[in-house]
Amino acid sequence: MSEVMYQNVKCVQDYFACNVFNEETMKNRLPKNVYKGLLRTQRLGIALDPDVAEVIASAMKEWAVEKGATHYTHWFHPMTGITAEKHDSFISPTKDGKVIMEFSGKELIKGEPDASSFPSGGLRATFEARGYTAWDPTSPAFVKDGSLYIPTAFCSYTGEILDKKTPLLRSMDVISEQAIRVLRLFGNTTATRVTTTVGPEQEYFLVDKALHDMRKDLMLTGRTLFGAKAPKGQELEDHYFGNIKDRVSAYMKDLDEELWKLGILAKTKHNEVAPAQHELAPIFTTSNVAADQNALTMEIMKKTAIKHGLVCLLHEKPYAGVNGSGKHNNWSISTNDGQNLLDPGDDPKDNIQFLTFLVAVIKAVNNYSDLLRLSVASAGNDHRLGANEAPPAIVSIFLGDELQTILDALETGKMIKTNQDKEFVIGVEALPNFPKDTTDRNRTSPFAFTGNKFEFRALGSADSIACTNMILNTIVAHVLKEFADTLEGSENFTEDLNNLLINTIKENKNIIFNGNGYDESWVEEAKRRGLPNLVSTVDAVPHYTDDKNVAIFEEFKVLTRTEIQSRKEILLDNYSKIINIEALTMVDMARKQIIPAGCEFTKFLADSIVSKKAAGVSFDAEKQLADKASCLTNSILEATDALDAKLLDVKNYDEGEPTARFYRDEVFAAMQSLRAVVDELETIAPESIWPFPTYADLLFRV
Ligand code: ADP
Ligand code: MG
Repeated sequence: MSEVMYQNVKCVQDYFACNVFNEETMKNRLPKNVYKGLLRTQRLGIALDPDVAEVIASAMKEWAVEKGATHYTHWFHPMTGITAEKHDSFISPTKDGKVIMEFSGKELIKGEPDASSFPSGGLRATFEARGYTAWDPTSPAFVKDGSLYIPTAFCSYTGEILDKKTPLLRSMDVISEQAIRVLRLFGNTTATRVTTTVGPEQEYFLVDKALHDMRKDLMLTGRTLFGAKAPKGQELEDHYFGNIKDRVSAYMKDLDEELWKLGILAKTKHNEVAPAQHELAPIFTTSNVAADQNALTMEIMKKTAIKHGLVCLLHEKPYAGVNGSGKHNNWSISTNDGQNLLDPGDDPKDNIQFLTFLVAVIKAVNNYSDLLRLSVASAGNDHRLGANEAPPAIVSIFLGDELQTILDALETGKMIKTNQDKEFVIGVEALPNFPKDTTDRNRTSPFAFTGNKFEFRALGSADSIACTNMILNTIVAHVLKEFADTLEGSENFTEDLNNLLINTIKENKNIIFNGNGYDESWVEEAKRRGLPNLVSTVDAVPHYTDDKNVAIFEEFKVLTRTEIQSRKEILLDNYSKIINIEALTMVDMARKQIIPAGCEFTKFLADSIVSKKAAGVSFDAEKQLADKASCLTNSILEATDALDAKLLDVKNYDEGEPTARFYRDEVFAAMQSLRAVVDELETIAPESIWPFPTYADLLFRV
């Protein structure tokens, strides 16, 4: 083929990360010593020298201006769950009435947005409204929509953390420190930093924008609050991995390009289980970059959809009766000397180190499953967990048969047959090669070992992954610390390690469950095992401030008790607000659209009865339908008033947990009652008077 034929083809490698101030750009644009200084900061997680910042700021500005940027923004992750940005232009006036483009090291490192409009969960009362943002040099800056975006942490003026990034960064340092201690025990002298890595698989729905805009519920809450089942759902299983429709395919192509330009390694895309549902998975990266990139991905997904006349729904449950959307958090730990610590490796020496880290994760998840559960708690995710489409709200670990056999043998000291058919008693000095086949995966497990990483599958699609990973890192760090404390002074390492592992397995094997997590008997079994089943957000979130949980955050200075308290309040408050908005939207739609439609339908039938009666024609069908429509409309009116009355009752409850509990037990129940009668009316009403698009329209007209 001639060269010419390629001319108009955009090569991904030519534009990948073209809008990112990444290592390559920095290497080209920064003086050698500055570049090296920055690399040390990034790789070892140490603080940046202010002089160095000045040089970097200037180079960054030059680069951004060449990319067409006129503004810069500190980009941060407040507790609202979405990212925040405030743009300042680079311009600075000169004496001759012109402007120059300026950006200082100080402006790069620190910003001072007003913190008073971001949720602080009661923290604000104790200090002034000012907050500040601080550059996170471990996550690269990028240019988007004419602005230079600088990833930052966000705190109050007095230092209380107000965002999701700061504790995540701290947790990464903490697990690194403890993992290095453990590695030293195994004779590793080369690793100096351990990094947690994450690959989040993101599910989403697409819906036609024109249809979407005809429904207040989708517009205001991101999910359908009413809607009778379409005649077809996901039962034919014809969507999962099915052919991608042209319009969707064009969207995905555009989305990939936008993400690639921002240096996001979008890798896999496919149709999901439900109609109009899809998934995007990137290649994994470090936890904090993954969290930043996932937030950016969600934003770009939404923006790109609009260009295609579509809306991207990230809500966990946009439609009743078909699967909702989640996010799988693939998590592992690796060293800067090139090892994945959750990879069994090939020789027994690696295996025992692997087993140590594996067992540490098992213990951490067992002791802090309530924290993991609450890290994925939200009003949206409550619809999925335990509804046989996502893992149950009970946290358990899946290891698979091969690994289970090894742990059992280690625990019981029994003989084990290896794949080479040799038999021996397994112990830290005698370990078989682990079979690494992981094709037999259990999709019903919330926390599954998948070969060289753990996959936590309970996250909601709209969630930030920051909280989950902050918790995961901290709880594992805590156990690694215990292990290191126990073993560091050991006189007989092999024996002590053996005992430690065996005892830890014995004490924590309760959390391991290799069976079907969707099975009803599991709920009973889990109860017998004493595993918590925190069904809803309101059941889970209050555990944030349990003493044992506060203790580990304080032990590692990841969060203080006050900060945890504030996070708990924010989560509960957010839950209440969401249910409130949904309830108000239902009342509004019922009164202004659904009840009028019910009346119109009844009137149409009544008119028909009158004329048929005059003509002496039988009107049985109309009569039956009119009675039913009239009766249902009546029930809808009653259910609407009942819901409205519940909303007035809210003020009788104390803020925080009591209010959230009332929303869950009373308001949410009243919403479901209203929905039931509306959906019934929809099934008998003619399409011509139904006031908004139906499930069939929404799900199948993409
Ligand atoms: P599946 O859908 O079968 O779970 P995918 O290939 O869609 O698998 O997703 C696997 C995810 O796991 C990808 O995002 C991948 O980058 C990520 N992953 C692979 N190795 C690691 C690792 N060491 N640490 C974190 N994530 C990883
Ligand atoms: Mg997965």
